[in-house]
Amino acid sequence: MDAVQAIRGMNDILPEQIGWWQGIERATREVLENFGYCEIRTPIAEKLELFARGIGESTDIVEKEMYAFADRNGDWLALRPEATASIVRAYIQHGMQADPGLRKFYQIGPMFRHERPQKGRYRQFHQIDAEVFGLESPKIDAEMMHMLSLLVERIGISGVALNINTLGCAQCRQIYRQILKDFLVAKGDGFCGDCMRRRETNPLRVFDCKVEGCGQLLQDAPRLIDHICDDCRAHFDAVKDYLEKLGTRYTVNPGIVRGLDYYVRTTFEVITDKLGSQSAIGGGGRYDGLMRDLGGPDVPALGFAMGMERLVLLLQQEKEMAHRAPRCFFASLGDKAGESAFLLAQQLRGQGIETELDYEGRSLKSQMRRADKSGARYVLILGEDELARREVQLRDMLTKTQRILPLENIVETLLATDSEQ
Ligand code: ATP
Ligand code: MG
Repeated sequence: MDAVQAIRGMNDILPEQIGWWQGIERATREVLENFGYCEIRTPIAEKLELFARGIGESTDIVEKEMYAFADRNGDWLALRPEATASIVRAYIQHGMQADPGLRKFYQIGPMFRHERPQKGRYRQFHQIDAEVFGLESPKIDAEMMHMLSLLVERIGISGVALNINTLGCAQCRQIYRQILKDFLVAKGDGFCGDCMRRRETNPLRVFDCKVEGCGQLLQDAPRLIDHICDDCRAHFDAVKDYLEKLGTRYTVNPGIVRGLDYYVRTTFEVITDKLGSQSAIGGGGRYDGLMRDLGGPDVPALGFAMGMERLVLLLQQEKEMAHRAPRCFFASLGDKAGESAFLLAQQLRGQGIETELDYEGRSLKSQMRRADKSGARYVLILGEDELARREVQLRDMLTKTQRILPLENIVETLLATDSEQ
């Protein structure tokens, strides 16, 4: 019988890879908590309606990519394709707009989209997500992008670009939508089927299209950035000014419209040229109207999401994996020595010394091979003779030297050796 395989596009993260993930998570917690963000953990499934309303009916995510299903009661649910809508729901549900109103959240976890799996694109993937509620000031837009750049750097990734744009407010967008629609109609019917449809339902989405022919037809399209109102212009100018004062490098890219309907004003993306067409590492923006659209109070908000698989791919391309090695390997010969080694190993671990050991009474040769492969700096060797003399051999794998030590205070000795380094 064939063995059951994982679902296509949903990957195991194996112990060999976990170091990358833990490193990214550690950096994320450090940086974000420094900026006042608190962790929140929302459910992996929500009512389908939340995403349909929150992300927008005519977006790619809702139209094509959602894992939606009716549960046993016939209720329509979906695996979350992103985190923003869920966090907004939680904010409203728990009445968090009450004093002090300003809240900063982050979430790390799996997201689900039914896309064609390829390098850097999966059906279960992971995001780092950050959201701020209750601030209209352009200071926070700049601070968020500054923090994102800092985080990418702290994770250990270089050579990425921060692209920023403004999408204006609902009013400027209304005017621009008609200007763009007129342009698209004037261009004729050379667009792909999706774009022909978008032209009618949601013209701005044409900029998301990855079909080359559409890209060419759009080259001289009118730009939203040239049609924004005075207030939106002032906000954008202030954001750029703060970014400069913070020393955060950016490029204005009027082509960034983002795949979600809810964005207003500031939008941004962090991109790399090292992952082929999966070039976006993360992105986000302001979504001042979303809270109200979801039945909540009128609270301005902004956020970003960063894809962790793409971060891991970049890290792997940039450097050799930082191998996680135990500090000690406990080798033993004979049943009695094996028993003592087992008990002593737990004491070492209890004192914070990472220790591996042999559990099965294998030959010394095979234990030494395993010790070598594990990358442990020290190997403790305990045979029946050593045990009788209450001694143990300590081999330093780096210097290739060996010492005989009293067994009684081996834990203290190793702790002292540890601090000599
Ligand atoms: P793309 O244009 O690559 O499809 P997106 O605009 O759909 O990205 P967002 O919804 O903004 O992506 O999500 C933020 C980040 O999450 C992306 O920049 C990317 O790093 C990551 N991401 C999105 N979809 C996937 C996926 N299917 N597999 C892996 N990572 C993903
Ligand atoms: Mg996408």
